[in-house]
Amino acid sequence: MPWRKIQRTNFRNIKKLAEFLELDPHTLSSTPNFPLNLPLRLAEKIEKKTLDDPILRQFVPLPEEKQNALGFVKDPVEDSNFCKSDKLLQKYQGRALLLASSACAMHCRYCFRQNFSYGEKSAFEKEIMLIREDTSIEEIILSGGDPLSLSNKILQNLFDEIDQIEHIKLIRFHTRFPIGIPERIDPKFLSILETSSKQCVFVIHANHAKEFDRDVCNALKSIQKLGIPVLLQAVLLRGVNDNTLSLKALLEMCIYNGIQPYYLHQLDRIDGAAHFEVAEEKGRALIKELRKCLPGYAIPSYVREIPGEKNKTPL
Ligand code: SF4
Repeated sequence: MPWRKIQRTNFRNIKKLAEFLELDPHTLSSTPNFPLNLPLRLAEKIEKKTLDDPILRQFVPLPEEKQNALGFVKDPVEDSNFCKSDKLLQKYQGRALLLASSACAMHCRYCFRQNFSYGEKSAFEKEIMLIREDTSIEEIILSGGDPLSLSNKILQNLFDEIDQIEHIKLIRFHTRFPIGIPERIDPKFLSILETSSKQCVFVIHANHAKEFDRDVCNALKSIQKLGIPVLLQAVLLRGVNDNTLSLKALLEMCIYNGIQPYYLHQLDRIDGAAHFEVAEEKGRALIKELRKCLPGYAIPSYVREIPGEKNKTPL
């Protein structure tokens, strides 16, 4: 089935999801600020009749989201201070972030960009002009939302534009899409990657081994076969992966499938996500434990983003 059709089967109604998961709908948040959006593939992986499931906790709105917590704000990484245009952000030297789409395959409850006001329309003339003018930019990071929400036609046009900019050497995707809808990695998309004159890099966002399955791994493998590195970035989340066993399983899943662990992020303090926060001290202890049971190349850098810093801050 084409990926757009599959996307239309996503759960967007809390009551229907509660019924599917055999849960009392009153145990979920019926009026979340960030709407429910959950692919069927992920919903099917959730254990029924319990809230204590690592996939449920990441994607299903719970009443805890309504609690106010000191230090948790609408724009924790201060994206709005780094905008060169509606859709172009620059925080770090040599790299610029193109907010390619406001849409995602799924809505993660801890998303730090859930309140960002994205520019309308998928037109990038202004951004391409700014990138063309700034020869210090060598890497374009396609993020969002999720850049794979764009149609192949729009992505092809974007690649054609970027291909003509000599000083751009790399195109990096930050995406969670293949975790929910691996069918998105379709032959046309693969041919866009294959025919680009730029080196591409894929950063997949996943937080728990349960998010992977054969289809997801095969989709990522088809990208790797084009000589494109696939990296993992994860967020340390209470109730999801804040123990050695879960993180070990996630990292093993990656290295067994040729995916290179890259970052383990400390939670960005977005309003409504305080219940996910893990103390940095615990995060450091978990990394120490992981070093004892995994090869060095399987250990991601444990980092946090501090607005205004020239790079991610290692913890
Ligand atoms: S896929 Fe990424 S951008 Fe979209 S809701 Fe999740 S964390 Fe946010």
